[in-house]
Amino acid sequence: MTNTNKNEQLEALHNLYKACKHCPLASLGRQQVVFGEGNPNAPLLFLGEGPGREEDKVGRPFIGRSGQLLRKTIAKIGLKPEDYYITNVVKCRPPNNRLPNKGEISPCTKLILKRELDIIQPKVICSLGSCATKVILEEKLIRMTDARKKIINKNGLSVKPVFHPAYILRNSKMRDMWILDLKQAFDLSKNS
Ligand code: SF4
Repeated sequence: MTNTNKNEQLEALHNLYKACKHCPLASLGRQQVVFGEGNPNAPLLFLGEGPGREEDKVGRPFIGRSGQLLRKTIAKIGLKPEDYYITNVVKCRPPNNRLPNKGEISPCTKLILKRELDIIQPKVICSLGSCATKVILEEKLIRMTDARKKIINKNGLSVKPVFHPAYILRNSKMRDMWILDLKQAFDLSKNS
């Protein structure tokens, strides 16, 4: 599938759901549906849990405080914007930045995330935090302190769990370790 084809398919998918009302998040104060962005032909995909306040206002993923930390950090380790795609498990902001729940995750991943992944076909998914890691690994319980030490093969896809940047903002002592984990995801994608 060519890059243009992937972009066209993603645009068609986004057009289908830009006014989506398939889960309760549609009526809990969201301003807009926030889709993923980046290079759909890149082997590496970052997956977060859901848009925050800034993302909801502007309509782009990972542009608030924690998103800026992530984008700045991955740029420092050598990732250019064309080296990755970035998206979230749910595409609408959960109120007060709470975690999305099962009744929100289930329809959104079925309607949008699964199709996004089918179109993009990444080689490596770097899951940011426990929500994204649980969704991508289809696990009920994940301990990020253990999961971050692993690279997990899931249906031929390499999953590298790392802490969510919001956690690093609150726990700056973990930052050096987090950078090494992100670098591992990048190196994996270069060799895939
Ligand atoms: S979170 Fe997903 S399923 Fe729910 S309204 Fe938004 S786009 Fe639709």
